Amino acid sequence: MSDVDAASGYPGLPGRTVVVTGAAGGQGAAEAILLDSLGARVVATDLGSDRPAVYEGTHVTYRPLDVSNEDHWTALAADLAQTLGGEPLKGLVNNAGITHRARLGQTARADWDRVFAVNVTGAMLGIQALAPLMARGSSIVNVGSAAGLTAHYTAAYTSSKWALRGLTHVAATEYGPRGIRANIVHPGFIETPMTDAAPQAMREAQLALTPLERMGHPGEVSSVVAFLLSDAAAYVSGAEIPIDGAFTSSSGVKYMADRIAAGTPSAVRPSLEG
Ligand code: NAD
Repeated sequence: MSDVDAASGYPGLPGRTVVVTGAAGGQGAAEAILLDSLGARVVATDLGSDRPAVYEGTHVTYRPLDVSNEDHWTALAADLAQTLGGEPLKGLVNNAGITHRARLGQTARADWDRVFAVNVTGAMLGIQALAPLMARGSSIVNVGSAAGLTAHYTAAYTSSKWALRGLTHVAATEYGPRGIRANIVHPGFIETPMTDAAPQAMREAQLALTPLERMGHPGEVSSVVAFLLSDAAAYVSGAEIPIDGAFTSSSGVKYMADRIAAGTPSAVRPSLEG
């Protein structure tokens, strides 16, 4: 590791190739742009055929790729094998994801399958296709969700993110002996196109139960993803990292703490007065 790399706080990324899925906007674009600024060679992918305007002024390469399409992954792996010229692929960020806001009793089989095809199978296909291009020091980061740690959200999405946790742990176990790491991050409520359409009631409940008392920003996820890709996290594998303002940590207890605080004489709760 060079001093210059270490000074960035994200050693091991400059000049190295990283693939990010679902990167037309939201968290994926934030991850790709941060990695580009750190000197990585970023291949950003998403469904659309055109390079998103968000990448103007960056070195990010854009490539259409449907994560649920095995042929797309096979083609990407073949192209990367050429461009990498024998150098290992540094990282894969399985960020693409879709939500489905229907309760268990109203979840149609087709919607369930669609959500799993992207959120779970997409990540599995990506790992299968690109792990052969990886070597010691490579890193896989899956983007889970606070919903993958709780049961507050809808059925298909929640179940898919719980499944993604399992895939992450299997990848960490299977690829560990090759020096390849696999981790998963669990964003809470992050302001992106996905959450633009969230019902107001969900926003209010989320805020009420988040100890940091605010939503998160894509940049607060991308910095953790970049850390996990970098050699600063060289001994971190099989980890699950919530990025949720302590939402899952307090697991609803904030509601009770706030109620207790409201009924407690101010003299004995100075820390709650700010
Ligand atoms: P987003 O909707 O802005 O981004 C998701 C991207 O995935 C989109 O650009 C979309 O086109 C792409 N995508 C969808 N299907 C795809 C497919 N088949 N192949 C390739 N790309 C596909 O949402 P976001 O909030 O940036 O979500 C990024 C990730 O973070 C997702 O996995 C999501 O589940 C997860 N997440 C988001 C939040 C949040 O509050 N925003 C919370 C927890 C987890």
